[in-house]
Amino acid sequence: MFAMRLHKPGTPLQWEELPDPIPGPGEIRVKVLACGVCRTDLHVVDGDLTHPQLPVTPGHEIVGRIDALGVGVSTLALGQRVGIPWLGHTCGHCPYCTSHHENLCDHPVFTGYTRDGGYATMAVADARFAFPLGEDGSDIDLAPLLCAGLIGWRSLAKTGDAQKVGLYGFGAAAHIIAQVLVWQKKEVFAFTRPGDTKTQNFAKTLGAKWTGGSDEQPPEPLDAAIIFAPTGSLVPAALKVLRKGGKVVCAGIHMSEIPAFSYDTLWEEREIVSVANLTRQDGLDFLSLAPKIGIRTTTTRYALKDANQALDDLRHGRFDGAAVLVP
Ligand SMILES: [Zn+2]
Ligand SMILES: [Zn+2]
Repeated sequence: MFAMRLHKPGTPLQWEELPDPIPGPGEIRVKVLACGVCRTDLHVVDGDLTHPQLPVTPGHEIVGRIDALGVGVSTLALGQRVGIPWLGHTCGHCPYCTSHHENLCDHPVFTGYTRDGGYATMAVADARFAFPLGEDGSDIDLAPLLCAGLIGWRSLAKTGDAQKVGLYGFGAAAHIIAQVLVWQKKEVFAFTRPGDTKTQNFAKTLGAKWTGGSDEQPPEPLDAAIIFAPTGSLVPAALKVLRKGGKVVCAGIHMSEIPAFSYDTLWEEREIVSVANLTRQDGLDFLSLAPKIGIRTTTTRYALKDANQALDDLRHGRFDGAAVLVP
């Protein structure tokens, strides 16, 4: 097999040939058909997330076809197409696992971070954490649903019955969640980097009611805002566009420092919450709903060998929607 591997945070991924992995008990091996490039991969590569397995193969938006089964796998079959997400394994017995909060497990394993992921021609996963994908939809179109879609979905759920929802950072996750919001007959307010009219126009094509820079005030107060960009200064900015009782949801795994702000910015029962990881139920819920909504992902395709270019283009916002690696 071949993989793009990280040996040291802050250095480029390296193209390597490795022995084909053997799935252990309860595991599956897939031929990778496509793997999305998530901002979290950038945080792993840059060293923002500490204690990765090293060397590690990044990538946790894997669409693959099963070509080997470990002992004891009975729920999935050879030849089946599956999705492999960020949540790679949980302990099953900590207080979080036993109270329907496996996303907060005390002893988790994360794909492409603490175990090898999908920037490769093959990947191994715990069968219980892989999602059957069926045969509808292309591999490339489905890949971004596996993290951008799932984390976006979990973030959206945190906004409750909010009708007017702001999205800060209109990348892979927001371009999917905007479609969910429109389908739910809610209103989308898209905030981009100031002056980024290209992304604002992209947001309009997906049904945004209003678009503007993250330094702008929308024409009316919002019920909730989801921050997908890794920028701490957006937290007080987002609080300031909310009505009383509104909520800011921080969807990313890493964010730069949040600057100090005066208490009246939070006052009147505004809330700030974060979203961490996903549960398998989030995945089942979202992946069954996505075809009904008719979500269309906008993707830019890269060869596996060009993973470093894809990450760099993500860092600089050079494409709309999501980047996807195709081995
Ligand atoms: Zn646990
Ligand atoms: Zn991700």
